[in-house]
Amino acid sequence: MIIGVLALQGAVREHVISLRALDVETRIVKRKSDLEGLSGLILPGGESTAMSLLAEDGFTERLKALADAGFPMFGTCAGMILLSEAVEGRPTGHIRAIDITVARNASGRQVDSFETLLDVEGIGSDVPAVFIRAPYIVTHGSGVRPMAVHNGSVVMARQDTILVASFHPELTDDRRIHEYFIEMVKETGT
Ligand code: GLN
Repeated sequence: MIIGVLALQGAVREHVISLRALDVETRIVKRKSDLEGLSGLILPGGESTAMSLLAEDGFTERLKALADAGFPMFGTCAGMILLSEAVEGRPTGHIRAIDITVARNASGRQVDSFETLLDVEGIGSDVPAVFIRAPYIVTHGSGVRPMAVHNGSVVMARQDTILVASFHPELTDDRRIHEYFIEMVKETGT
């Protein structure tokens, strides 16, 4: 099993470290060809606009096709924005792999970044979550399962093989969320 980490921009290294700490082989993904033979993909936090501009032609469409075929993906923060069906204030979504609408920078500006503890359904309580200019999920379809809520907004959710979080689990030493994603990948068995 190899799990890729999208490395166009953002907090790539921290996800690689988290996966390696759980004995998972990883691969840096910059191009479509890097997706060959992967069992799953993490889309990190960073700046969603920059990532979409840096992606090679056809990359978004390739990820959409993989998502539709049941390939597991986990988007954190900007990665969640890339996977969402719609982004408030933007004409179109990006990969549109999960039926959620997100509001960017909903947790405030850089100075308003914060860390808190969340109860996450299916994972446990007191999960540390770092929010950095985080997007929130404002609406979601009936096929989407909310997994964590902060201040009344959904901040983690899953639809089939797509997992998203508003925050950065890779910036803490608590590996439970990465473990959960690894189990999703194993269950899918691609
Ligand atoms: N605000 C960023 C965006 O809109 C996301 C921030 C993050 O990933 N920490 O892409």
